[in-house]
Amino acid sequence: MSAPQPSTGIAPGPRAAAARCRFCGTDLTHTFVDLGMSPLCQTHIEPHQLNHMEPFYPLHAYVCDQCYLVQLDEYVSPSEIFSDYAYFSSYSDSWVQHAKRYTDMAVERFGLGTGNKVMEIASNDGYLLQHFRDRGIPVLGIEPAANVAQVAVEKGIPTTVRFFGAASAQDIAAEHGQADLLLGNNVLAHVPKLNDFVAGMKLLLKAGGNITMEFPHLYRLMERNQFDTIYHEHFSYLSFFTVQKVFAAHGLTLYDVEELDTHGGSLRIYARHTEDTAKPVTERAEALLQREIAWGVNRLETYASFTEQVKETKRKILEFMINAKRAHKRIAGYGAPGKGNTLLNYCGIRQDFLDYTVDRSPYKQGRYTPGTRIPILHPDRIRETRPDYLFILPWNLKDEIMSQMAHIRDWGGQFVVPIPILKVFP
Ligand SMILES: [Zn+2]
Repeated sequence: MSAPQPSTGIAPGPRAAAARCRFCGTDLTHTFVDLGMSPLCQTHIEPHQLNHMEPFYPLHAYVCDQCYLVQLDEYVSPSEIFSDYAYFSSYSDSWVQHAKRYTDMAVERFGLGTGNKVMEIASNDGYLLQHFRDRGIPVLGIEPAANVAQVAVEKGIPTTVRFFGAASAQDIAAEHGQADLLLGNNVLAHVPKLNDFVAGMKLLLKAGGNITMEFPHLYRLMERNQFDTIYHEHFSYLSFFTVQKVFAAHGLTLYDVEELDTHGGSLRIYARHTEDTAKPVTERAEALLQREIAWGVNRLETYASFTEQVKETKRKILEFMINAKRAHKRIAGYGAPGKGNTLLNYCGIRQDFLDYTVDRSPYKQGRYTPGTRIPILHPDRIRETRPDYLFILPWNLKDEIMSQMAHIRDWGGQFVVPIPILKVFP
């Protein structure tokens, strides 16, 4: 059925069982990058678990040679990952501001008012929907993690606790009606059953309604060495080219797109029912597609050099760590995000390099990073211990963190940002 592919230099990776592309069903034989074995990045270790073993799973990403979806196999089921999730969006100031700006844009562009309904998939603790609610627009959150949904409900954001897909979309439409605006930020990449998820959006979207979704852009991941955004919870790595194919297969058309700085470079796509031709496809959507094709989004060769680039990034990070420790410097981490755990595990950084890390989320304080067992403390510990270097793990928030922690310069402390290429900020 498929045409013979040219040789690419990508060695087919060894694999326990044949995995198939979660969009088009093709056998996955081309490695994108293999980061070895890693624990789940959000299972922070509690003190009483320190003497226990942890499960590690392969962190091996493939690229499909038919639709070019970069993806991880579903090593762990989402119910294991997301039912008690530690990520609370409201603990990042810049993310909350991003949500406010999005709301202002969406209300104006889509002409939303009290007669409309806004639904968010993976609504987290209500950090975004609260802005629509404050304008009197009816909202509904859809969130699989019961502990996180409970926080939203306490804030007055109606939230239904379930995983999203075609079946739950039908139930939600029956109970609450369809959505004028259906949105999802950083969720599309996190669903293993991609087809079922997009089919659900088709069902839940009102005729004439709009979908917006934000997700990290595969192009930026590769261009900026963001290998640490690969973790088990993040099943798919998305280009505009491939997402367009996925949506089209379910009767949805991407009619506009914006490139955002969030999460190191994201896309915000705008989708509509394919029948809803009143909204023409914008020039910038066409232009991005052409740019991706010119970059080589639909050629396997484009993906072949990423592995070597990742290895070199690891060598640079370790080179800094080793030199700093030989000079008797003290290094503390900042943050314990999912991406940080991929980086720490892949690079083999434990307390031999990082004394501790800190996080503003009380949920993580007092726990340990998965696999590498680095203690996660309150940010005040930085001022008490005066480290020489503050190693910023959530590099996408580096500006916010460097401004909050500017006082480390009082004792000569310096910031270190590992991605895209390790850089020290005196
Ligand atoms: Zn495919």
